[in-house]
Parts: sequence; structure tokens; C-alpha cells
Amino acid sequence: MTDPLPPGASVGILGGGQLGRMLAVAASRLGLSAHVYEPQAGCPAAQVAARCTTAPWDDAPALRAFARSVDVVTYEFENVPTAALDAIEAIRPIRPGRRSLAVSQERLAEKTFLAGLGLTVAPFAPVEDAATLAEALARIGTPAILKTRMLGYDGKGQARIDRAADAPAALQAMAGAPALLEGFVAFDREVSVVAARGADGSVAAFDPGENVHRDGILRTTTVPARLSAAQRSDAVLIAARILNALDHVGVIGVELFVTPAGLIVNEIAPRVHNSGHWTQNGCLIDQFEQHIRAVCGWPLGDGTRHSDVVMENLIGHDMDRLPALMASGAALHLYGKAEVRAGRKMGHVNRITGPAPR
Ligand code: AMP
Repeated sequence: MTDPLPPGASVGILGGGQLGRMLAVAASRLGLSAHVYEPQAGCPAAQVAARCTTAPWDDAPALRAFARSVDVVTYEFENVPTAALDAIEAIRPIRPGRRSLAVSQERLAEKTFLAGLGLTVAPFAPVEDAATLAEALARIGTPAILKTRMLGYDGKGQARIDRAADAPAALQAMAGAPALLEGFVAFDREVSVVAARGADGSVAAFDPGENVHRDGILRTTTVPARLSAAQRSDAVLIAARILNALDHVGVIGVELFVTPAGLIVNEIAPRVHNSGHWTQNGCLIDQFEQHIRAVCGWPLGDGTRHSDVVMENLIGHDMDRLPALMASGAALHLYGKAEVRAGRKMGHVNRITGPAPR
């Protein structure tokens, strides 16, 4: 696919959560038609997409029919099973490509890739059992964090090790899954860069946002982040470096720790990112439109920040504050999830805190 897809073309989206929903809205606003593939019925994206296939990830005929019905396929999460990707890729291009997925699906591959680019990451070592954990701890020291290599998100599949005595419990928390020990980074703050790369190789980064997590889940993103001009350009250059090395087409989220010694890359997500939701109200072209533009071969849009924004996630019973939030003047984005559960992302609000300085 080299020519830009025309309006009326169909974009396949793997995964029907809130990110899939907001991608489908962006596609629809550009005159494109979104077809979502999601195993769970009644998903947030199905409420807004032109079409939805409800089928499991191992349903090869459903995957093939889905692929045939669209012009390009993208995804809202990086853990789509490999066999499903193989079935789709035999029929239609997947953007961002398989290398972006492979690197971000597995923490050891991710850290090795990032370190190979010359970027700074926390010290890390693979862990399979008590012996390799002991070796890793001897090398890296404490405090450290043991993380599952795959399927970790929102701080899940992680155990902190403050002293050697914590090791057995941490290993048990991995439930036998291959793991990675990471040295604990004493960071001043966490920031992220959401950036896009077009099919023509052009790169456009949104301004870095400053992130606050609670219980491993993103609570707020504030732009501008408290960064020096040099740190800001470093952050953007790091994202561009990663995008180019992956030959990535689409949006990426790069999470960084800010330390006195410089920026440390924590992890990358080869997709639109929760810390980029502020762009919906802080920029002319937001991360969702930028992603759809990129995967459809369109030129990237202008993602310059026009306003300072605080994005707050609405998690679980934050929804009790809905009447006040509705009246607050903030931009409200709700995901259409019927059931409120503790820890479940139900929506977010973007509060404009002022015009971006020119
Ligand atoms: P992750 O799932 O790797 O993004 O981790 C979730 C959160 O845990 C991060 O946003 C950090 O707040 C914290 N965290 C993860 N890895 C480290 C580390 N090596 N040092 C300090 N904090 C970490």
C-alpha cells in the first residue's frame, strides 16, 4: 500500500476497548469506515464503529473474513496473539508493523532493543527461576522490580524486591512465567512522549506529558511537563529514534523516567496511549487522528499544542463524581462501559488550564 487510502476506505481495528473506540471515531470523522474485531460482545468500540466482528482470536475464518473486508489493519493493544496476526497479514497490511509488536510484546526483547539503540534503560536481567533471580539480584542489587516478560500492563505482573528476603514471594507472584528483574529507578518524575511516524517516514511528536500513576494505573497527565528545554528535545529525539529504528507507521507511546542523570526509557507501546488523551483537547489534530492518518498513508497533521491541559482518568468509582464533572466545564470523554468496577478505566476528562505559550 503506497497510495493514501481514499475516503470511504475501511480501517480494521483489532481490539474494541476505549482506544479502539476513539480510533473508530477518528476514522469516521475522516470519512473512513471502521471495522472492529473484538472477542467480547458489547465492547466500547462496537457502539461507534461501522462494523464489528465478535469472534475469538483463534477463529481463523473470522479473522480472514475481517481482513478481506478492510483495506488496512491496525490495533489498540500490543498483545494480539501471533497466529491471529499471521492470518491477517497474509491478506492485508498491519500497521504499525510486526517488528513494533514483537519488540513491545516482550519486555526482554524491548529492553534489549532499546539498549541496542544506545538509549538508557534500567539495569535488567532475565529471570526464570530462583537461581537466575539470585544471580540477577547479585548483579543489579535492591531495590528492584520483578516483572513478567509478557502481558504486563497498568503495573500488573510486577513485584517489588526491597531486600533479598522478598525474592521468594516476588518469584511466586510471577506464577512460573518468564520474568525480568529491573533495577529500581529513583526518578524525579515520569513523562511520556506520544509521537507518530507516517508511511513516508515523517515524524511528528506531541509535547511530552507528565504522568502520575497510582497503584500502577495512570491517574493524570499534565502538559506541559516540567522539563528543561534540553530534556524536552531529548525526549522527542528518543521517540523519533525508536520510531525510525522500528520503521514504525502510526503512533507510539514512549514512557520515560526523568532522573538527574538524564532520561531513562521505561517502556514503549506501539499504539495510541492513555498519556496522549490530552491531545483531544490540547491540539488541532489529536493522537487518534494522527494514527489513522499514518496507517492510511495520509500526511501527518499538525499536532502543535494550542492549550495547556490536565487529563484525569476516571477510574472505577470516580464515576460517582460525574454530575460535578458534567458541570465543571472540562471536556468529558466516556467510554460507554456499562459496569463500573474498581480499577476499570471508565473515561477521562481534559481540563484546559490556559493557552500554550507561543
Ligand atoms: P510499567 O508497567 O513497566 O510501565 O510499570 C508501571 C509503573 O511502575 C511505572 O509507571 C513506574 O511508576 C513504576 N516502575 C516500573 N518500573 C520501574 C523501575 N524500574 N523503577 C522504578 N519504578 C518503576
